[in-house]
Amino acid sequence: MIHKALTIAGSDSGGGAGIQADLKTFQELGVYGMSALTAVTAQNTLGVHGVYPMEPAAVAAQLDALGADLQPDAVKTGMLFSSDIIRTVAEKVERYGWRKLVIDPVMVAKGGSQLLLREAVDALIARLLPLALVTTPNIPEAEMLTGMRIASMQERELAAKRIVEMGSRYALIKGGHGAPEEPMVDLLYDGRSFAYLESKRVDTRHTHGTGCTYSAAITAELARGKTVAEAMQTAKQFIQAAIEDGLGIGGGHGPTNHFA
Ligand code: PLP
Repeated sequence: MIHKALTIAGSDSGGGAGIQADLKTFQELGVYGMSALTAVTAQNTLGVHGVYPMEPAAVAAQLDALGADLQPDAVKTGMLFSSDIIRTVAEKVERYGWRKLVIDPVMVAKGGSQLLLREAVDALIARLLPLALVTTPNIPEAEMLTGMRIASMQERELAAKRIVEMGSRYALIKGGHGAPEEPMVDLLYDGRSFAYLESKRVDTRHTHGTGCTYSAAITAELARGKTVAEAMQTAKQFIQAAIEDGLGIGGGHGPTNHFA
């Protein structure tokens, strides 16, 4: 039986993040990958050199094509760029009943380029979060979504509760942006209780695309019928290995290793 996963995201010409990271991850985890492009970025390991968003009608047409034929078992969103694209995606997710929806609320690239316009954060919260099975912010993204300043684990737990109150069934707040001297802990909240997944911090600059890869791995596992908690465990192992075995390519922040 073939399981199918769809990424609705931006293209990274450097191949380390965005739809390229997602499709490579789907493939490595044994899932048939599909993509709907929201934007093209001109990008390498040194940074983002240009952002070219798609017309919302082009995003709609891609999603209609998939809804009419290759219905995905699970869907993730990455870079969505504008409120118009967010509204288009939300409408199609509703129309085609895509309930296994993972939202990686991509906002700013590590080099500082804006991948989501500031004006679009409200649309993300109002239109897309209520449709999410899982939302996977890092700490700065969780701060943008909740308007909170997040320093302690209690504040992370409170932010996760707020994200679930916004309508996402689960909130996964990733610990990668926590203080370097502290253990790295990802926090999963299901509306009732918290689960904590601790991992070893790897001393590397090659972490480009980690968020995309992690959420893509969760999506692949959901497509295969796993629960959110199971999907997170497998995805965590996949992303940890991808960071530890970095390829070391490019002169800047290189990609993680998607070869399983
Ligand atoms: N470019 C695209 C198209 C992305 O979707 C993402 C995902 O977050 C990034 C860049 C960010 O990459 P980085 O991990 O370097 O912040």
